[in-house]
Amino acid sequence: MIDIREVTKVFGAGSDAFRALDRVSVTIRQNEFFTLLGPSGCGKTTLLRMIAGFEGPTEGTILLDGDDLAGKPPYERPVNTVFQSYALFPHMSVAENVGFGLRMLGRPKDEIAATVREMLALVRMSELAERQTAQISGGQQQRVALARALAPRPKVLLLDEPLSALDFKLRKEMQLELKRLQNETGITFVFVTHDQEEALTMSDRIAVMNAGRIRQIGVPREIYDHPADRFVADFIGDTNFLSAELTARTGDTATLRLPSGRTVEARAQGDGTPGKVTLAVRPEHAELAPPEEGALTGTLTEVVYSGTDTHYHVALDQEAGLFVLRRQNRPDAGPAHQRGDRVGIRLGAVAGQVLRD
Ligand code: ATP
Repeated sequence: MIDIREVTKVFGAGSDAFRALDRVSVTIRQNEFFTLLGPSGCGKTTLLRMIAGFEGPTEGTILLDGDDLAGKPPYERPVNTVFQSYALFPHMSVAENVGFGLRMLGRPKDEIAATVREMLALVRMSELAERQTAQISGGQQQRVALARALAPRPKVLLLDEPLSALDFKLRKEMQLELKRLQNETGITFVFVTHDQEEALTMSDRIAVMNAGRIRQIGVPREIYDHPADRFVADFIGDTNFLSAELTARTGDTATLRLPSGRTVEARAQGDGTPGKVTLAVRPEHAELAPPEEGALTGTLTEVVYSGTDTHYHVALDQEAGLFVLRRQNRPDAGPAHQRGDRVGIRLGAVAGQVLRD
């Protein structure tokens, strides 16, 4: 539906030129909850602003339903944006805010009233329709901003970090709420966040970005289980990186020798030539074991209790750095470990993902 082809954006000129986006290509499908995820400054907002029409690409094209958007001003695009700041009109009531875009479009009064009622019901704000927006909470303001953006029924809704001003609990609630809204309206959502957990929870697909480039596009599980490179593995979730030597490869499975001398199997994609690689291991895919049973050994330096889980930090004998494991705090969780204990680390039958350096 939205076809972004080889889009580059350069700000400034000459020696001050800065390439905010570098040949970005991505296709966003109709009815999709699509997330642009990446660290601050990677170009997410710039890409969103180009879909909205607030910026034009330096090179490349953006098509919407097959139409080239070049030269089309924002108000002629079937696209609406929800900003982090909500940008509500403080002197208007909730209902007037929601109807604002429709009034600008010159829609008939009774149609506006009906749409406003429908949108307020959708975001569960019917009771507060006549309140001034200065007299409602942050979470409620967020709902009004959403209702206002949805009211003209855009084909695409762009959301730029819309939940970042909310506290943790409200944010969790609004994540589910946004997902529900997207399901119920069938509108394509393009969502920008730097919060990987938020992206994994909400998205149909995610594009992971860094330094103006897309590093990987996939469904949340693909991105988490099969990170394409070290940046993605590091940015999404917690990851342990181990140096290893790839000795053999059959299909998607590689045999690796760890610095401890032990051999393990891991998932591999792409280049299968023997040599030095990095093994990426998720904390929940490893467990503590007696030292003689571990593929790795070390000393526990930290035991961190976090309610549902306990995190164990192990200083490895064989290489520099910590290995972090996570164990669910169940009543039958086995013996407690303490700082200073000598431990082994048992890896899964598939130890992790092989990354090329
Ligand atoms: P954040 O999460 O912090 O909003 P982002 O990933 O959305 O970050 P962008 O706002 O897209 O990042 O900015 C990408 C890069 O382009 C940044 O380094 C930023 O400083 C730069 N940039 C953005 N707009 C301009 C501009 N108008 N002029 C010059 N540089 C700009």
